[in-house]
Amino acid sequence: MQDYQTILEEIYQSLKNCENTGQVASYIPELANADKNKLGLHLQLITGENFGVGNSSEKFSIQSISKVFSLALAFQHIGNDLLERVDVEPSGNPFNHLSLLEQEDGIPRNPLINSGAIVVADVLLSNLQNPKQDFLEFVRELAHDDTIEFNEKIAESERKTGFNNYAAANLLKAYGNLNNKVEDVLDFYFHQCSIMMDCKQLTDAFFVFANKGCCRKNKQHLTDSQVKRVNAIMLTCGFYDEAGEFAFEVGLPGKSGVGGGIVALLPNEFIIATWAPALNPKGNSYLGMQALEQFTTKTKLSIF
Ligand code: GLU
Repeated sequence: MQDYQTILEEIYQSLKNCENTGQVASYIPELANADKNKLGLHLQLITGENFGVGNSSEKFSIQSISKVFSLALAFQHIGNDLLERVDVEPSGNPFNHLSLLEQEDGIPRNPLINSGAIVVADVLLSNLQNPKQDFLEFVRELAHDDTIEFNEKIAESERKTGFNNYAAANLLKAYGNLNNKVEDVLDFYFHQCSIMMDCKQLTDAFFVFANKGCCRKNKQHLTDSQVKRVNAIMLTCGFYDEAGEFAFEVGLPGKSGVGGGIVALLPNEFIIATWAPALNPKGNSYLGMQALEQFTTKTKLSIF
C-alpha cells in the first residue's frame, strides 16, 4: 500500500506556504467570514482506512456539494422520471448562470447547477413528508453521523441575498417546471446548502458513491445504475465551467462548493475531501484543486 499519510502531508506542506491568490466567496455574507488560511485534506479508502491533515476535522458550509445528496435522494424516490425535468449535459456556464433563458423550455442543463438543483429541491419537496428534516436525516444516515446540522445563520444570509436563485426559481415556475411555491423550494435549497460538515464526514457520506450504492454500514441506498449516473454527472458537471479542467488535471468525479470544499472519488478505491475557503475565479477552491491534482499525480490513481 502507498504511504498515504506521507503523501497528504507533502501536499499540505507544499500548499500551506504557497501564494494563495484565491478569494473567499462574499456574495453570501456569512461565508465572507471564512479564514482564507485554512486547509484540510482527508482520504478514506474503500477498505475503511482514514488519513487526514490540516483542518480536516473543522466543519464548513458544504454549499453545492449538497446537490449530490439531493440528486441521489431524488433518484431514490422517482428514479429516471427525474430526467424529464432536468437534463444531464454540462453547462459550461458559471454556477449561477440563468441558462434556462437559452433553452426556452424550462429544463435546466443538469442537476448540479443552481437551476437544476432547484428543480431537484422541488421534487424532494413533493416526495418527502418533512422535507428539510428528511433530507438532513438522509445525509446523516449516509455519513452515519447524527451531529450533522443545518447552519441557520448561513441559510438566512443566503435567503436575504440570493437574488439569482429567486430569478431562476421564478423562471422555472413560469415555465411550469416548479410544482411548489418558490419560497418553499428556496427555503429547502438554502438549507441544504447551509449544511455543515468536515472533510472526514464528507468522505463518510460519499462512500456510497464509491461503493456501488452501499454505505459504510453496507446498506444499499442506490442501484448500480443510479451510482453510475450520479458519478457521471459529477465528472461532467461537478465544477461549474471548470469541469473539463478538473477532469484534465485531476481525473476523478467530484463536486465543489463555494464554501471551499471539494469531494472526489475513485470508484471501488477511495474518497478524498479537501477544504480551503479561498476560491479561484471559476468558484472552485484554489488550493483544493491543486491538492487534488497533486494527489492523483503522486499516487497515479485516477479514473484514467
Ligand atoms: N448556495 C449557493 C448558491 O446557490 C451554492 C453555490 C455553490 O456552492 O456553487 O449560490
